[in-house]
Amino acid sequence: MATPPVPAPEELAGLRRRYRLERERRVRPDGARQYLATDAEFGYYAADPYVGEVAEREPLRDTVTVAVVGGGFGGILAGARLRQRGVESIRIVEKGGDFGGTWYWNRYPGIHCDIESHVYLPLLDETGYVPEWKYAPGDEIRRHAVRVAEKFDLCADALFSTAVTSLTWDGTTETWIVATDRGDGFRARYVITATGTLTDPKLPGIPGIEDFKGHTFHTSRWDYGYTGGTPDGGLTGLADKKVGIVGTGATGVQAIPMLAEDAAHLYVFQRTPSSVDVRANGRTTAADVGADHEGWARARRENFLRVVSGEPADEDLVADRWTASAGLLEKLLPSFRRPGDREDFEAAYEVADAAKMNELRSRVEQTVTDPETAEKLKPWYRYACKRPTFSDKYYPAFNRDNVTLVDTADTHGIERVTEHGVVVGDTTYALDCLIFATGFEVGTSGVLSGELPVRGRDGTQLLHAWAQQGPRTLHGFTSNGFPNLIQMGSLQNASSVNFTHILDEQAVHAAALVAAAETEDALVEPSREAEDAWRTVLAEDAPDHEWFHAECTPGYYNREGRGRPNGPSAYPHGAVAFHELLRRWREESMHGILRARTAGATGATGATGATGNSSPRRMA
Ligand code: NDP
Repeated sequence: MATPPVPAPEELAGLRRRYRLERERRVRPDGARQYLATDAEFGYYAADPYVGEVAEREPLRDTVTVAVVGGGFGGILAGARLRQRGVESIRIVEKGGDFGGTWYWNRYPGIHCDIESHVYLPLLDETGYVPEWKYAPGDEIRRHAVRVAEKFDLCADALFSTAVTSLTWDGTTETWIVATDRGDGFRARYVITATGTLTDPKLPGIPGIEDFKGHTFHTSRWDYGYTGGTPDGGLTGLADKKVGIVGTGATGVQAIPMLAEDAAHLYVFQRTPSSVDVRANGRTTAADVGADHEGWARARRENFLRVVSGEPADEDLVADRWTASAGLLEKLLPSFRRPGDREDFEAAYEVADAAKMNELRSRVEQTVTDPETAEKLKPWYRYACKRPTFSDKYYPAFNRDNVTLVDTADTHGIERVTEHGVVVGDTTYALDCLIFATGFEVGTSGVLSGELPVRGRDGTQLLHAWAQQGPRTLHGFTSNGFPNLIQMGSLQNASSVNFTHILDEQAVHAAALVAAAETEDALVEPSREAEDAWRTVLAEDAPDHEWFHAECTPGYYNREGRGRPNGPSAYPHGAVAFHELLRRWREESMHGILRARTAGATGATGATGATGNSSPRRMA
């Protein structure tokens, strides 16, 4: 890969001005309030299109050892790691009709994971599965989720098409009462929450959106009944249709080339162009990825994490555009972690960033033949401001006669929806079908949003307990007053672009906590002192990234342009160090996490077994 030329200082100053201008074109006073939730009258956009009629079943009143909230990779990994620790009674509760989480819901045409499949798909060593493509199609990933669930025997007692509506600690039996929207009220000795971060689809609050009389859906609930075809294409139902798609994020970039192939005409309503780098997907063999010895996948995954985290690594096994851009991260991430050196880092980062973005902008020019369209497709912001995307089919789609790019930046998005189309400026675009690739609400599902109320000891609500001084946890997983509740997610924990890796480390940790408590016949509940100590660790080196995000174009990374406040929300030294810290803590002490059970509590289910467990069955 050729190194892009180093931009001159006057070019950097020009870019800074241009970025500011482009940001100002897009910032809206209503920020995140511009979006609509897909509930109430918009509930149609979030309904499950894959499940058919949900079978009636009797509400459950039994007791399990561990209830896991969420059947995406987080929940499945928790189940798998618990099984490896010998836990027999595990019930996963999932809103969707099957396992898979994001890969259950998202089945839009062209769907692929843009992280290499050999590091993204978890438990490859354990299942013996070797992905066939460098970047796996969504269906292969969904099938792998089911494969893992089957291998670790998580299917029989899973509850699908079921949402957990509350978690209540019963101190008498020292169990959680798990209530659901199907009338269940079963008990669990431990609860692990794995509810994801970008789960509830959102819509733009465009005036008149409810008036549209054509066909409409969100990309995460693709209506193949209307479009025909499959995620591989062949959308024959669109052959005589004028189709509009709103949104050009990671989803839009994958779906647009497929729609372009089959729609009579496709209008792409863009507000902010994504950066679209080379994809270079292709078939791979086991030999290509070194899948010939035990632990190959773990080693590859660790290597990827090191490289993309800007940590020293002897080699770059994945060698793709994520890892090639790690040079940028090497400059950016330390500046977040060491605020004192900001100016030096900022200068170094700016040069590298401008070179990268110039390279991506020239990619547009080299591919898109109409200069006006090419100009509109160029991203004018720093690389890490928005989720980078990857495609070799996206830009060529705009060379087709049946594709029109409609730039909506000057009007802050589509202005109005009418019964039969969309208005931007003084043009009305007549449409048969309007598809929203407008993303997901950030952090609205699960415990942290209040969507899932949690009442701990003495009926204390978790969010009330945190209202005054912010979240209190040990390592992000557990909290005082909420025994045997283990949360998976990014809060006071670590994150990375390869989120399944993070989830697996969390699952290993959660399973170790359960196993330790079972062995000691104790409760998993950190002391206040352990929480305080963790807050100190988080606060001492809290990253200073506000300056960076404040200058970024709006999006969900920076609360739609309002910036990302500094604060001790995640472990400041990155995922590699965090995983090492957890490993050492487990091996050396597990200090401050176990608490004596109350004598006489009746909820004990024995070391690994279940009491009163329902007969194993997979339920819809
Ligand atoms: P995003 O939130 O990234 O993108 C939403 C898009 O909708 C943006 O282009 C946004 O424009 C546009 N939009 C919103 N409102 C309007 C409006 N009123 N008028 C015009 N345009 C509008 O959602 P995605 O579904 O694309 O991606 C969400 C996340 O899911 C990704 O960031 C990624 O983390 C993940 N993902 C991962 C994939 C993978 O392969 N690993 C694949 C797909 C998604 P603007 O930018 O101006 O706000």
